Amino acid sequence: MKIYNSLSKRKEEFIPLEGNKVKMYACGITVSGEAHIGHGYQALIYDIMRKYLKKLGYDVTYARNYTDVDDKIIAKSHETGIPADEYAAKMIENINKVMAGFHVDDPDVWLKATENIENIIEFVSTLIDKGHAYATKNGDVYFDVESFPAYGRLSNRNIEDALDGVRVDNDDEKKNAYDFALWKSAKAGEIYWESPWGKGRPGWHIECSAMNRAAFGEQIDIHGGGRDLIFPHHENEIAQTEALTGKPFVKYWTHNGLIKVNGQKMSKSLGNSLLLNELLEKYSDEAVKFALLQTNYRNDINITDDLFPEAEKHLYDFYSVLALVDKITVKLKGMELTVDGDDAMKAAELSEKIDGEFNACMSDDFNTALALSNLFGYFKELKKNLAEKTTGGYFAALGMAVQIRKTYSLLGLFKKVPAEYVAWYEEKNAEDIPAEVKAVAEERWQARASKDWAKSDELRAKLAEMGYAVKDSKTGYELIKN
Ligand SMILES: [Zn+2]
Repeated sequence: MKIYNSLSKRKEEFIPLEGNKVKMYACGITVSGEAHIGHGYQALIYDIMRKYLKKLGYDVTYARNYTDVDDKIIAKSHETGIPADEYAAKMIENINKVMAGFHVDDPDVWLKATENIENIIEFVSTLIDKGHAYATKNGDVYFDVESFPAYGRLSNRNIEDALDGVRVDNDDEKKNAYDFALWKSAKAGEIYWESPWGKGRPGWHIECSAMNRAAFGEQIDIHGGGRDLIFPHHENEIAQTEALTGKPFVKYWTHNGLIKVNGQKMSKSLGNSLLLNELLEKYSDEAVKFALLQTNYRNDINITDDLFPEAEKHLYDFYSVLALVDKITVKLKGMELTVDGDDAMKAAELSEKIDGEFNACMSDDFNTALALSNLFGYFKELKKNLAEKTTGGYFAALGMAVQIRKTYSLLGLFKKVPAEYVAWYEEKNAEDIPAEVKAVAEERWQARASKDWAKSDELRAKLAEMGYAVKDSKTGYELIKN
């Protein structure tokens, strides 16, 4: 298993810190709004990483957090008049619901900032005792960046560069502009907890360090998040934890690419955020997954208008084949079939090949893009086997279909009843076809049924003029927009 490590900037052989155990943490969502596609994507990627490592036999514990107190949540609370904790709890409920609809599984451990205030205070106190942090007379606490010379290793920045990326908040009591807040004193009307430095709340960066330590101890194997978190968030996590423990915090830092919409960065101010719940009302969850996983997780994904419809069509083609296999299986039930040793061997080899190739892709830094592109070849071969119309061919096709569904379920695909997906897709796309086109198509189908080939051809030409091609099969026809 090779994983790209953002710290060394290369793919490395994956060797856990402690035997077979894998401690894995991914930065979760700041619950100041509903989940957008970027949140869904990140949750999906780390769920897949966890599942694949488990498939390889590792004993994985995967933790993820909700940032349920921060400046943006407080701003929302003031805007809506809902207390900050109630607002955060409501958002978490909504996000959990939409993630369940996206069929992304929960982590093994859920962590929340507000449930770890004591751990955070203890962490900050220790940093002060060790000379890595200082409190101001306003009751804020800052990390002293100069006390940690390794600062900037992950993001390849030195301290001067680091200044470019931080918001200078003009706090006169800060020793240096690049020092960052570990604890923020509460202003009037803000949510707060009591601390040795007065009423306040944790800074964002410290929660991940403190919760990791509470959940896992001093060191973990894999830490993940979006690439936009490398600086300053992950850089600050390293500084906090390593200043405290004197040990390397994370063995493998992993970062997923970002989502763009029609080439533009997705942001609230541009109004181009794709909310996950809205997306899942339009497209099947599997189509959204298929579309996203066609890109290697480290690269950015550009969402164009065609991306999800195209993914949905690919899945429709795949599910149509699976539905056909199901249909033949039903037909053959109760019939006596003799499968000889060669046939059985061929089917077993095909199944092994599918799973083996999938593992080879995934063991190369979770290359879902290649794993998905392999599907096109498998389905071609599957159809070829079916077309043989022999017991051996059918047996091989059935073996492939079963194996594809089993193997690719790790990516959250092929979990639906094939015939149901096919019917759903056809109905959804049929809505766009005008009634007069449908009427001509129906008339043509009747003409064919009564073997009136001349009329059938005439109506086919008429459909072409209307902008539709027609594809016939034994059981029916499909209209395709030209
Ligand atoms: Zn974090």
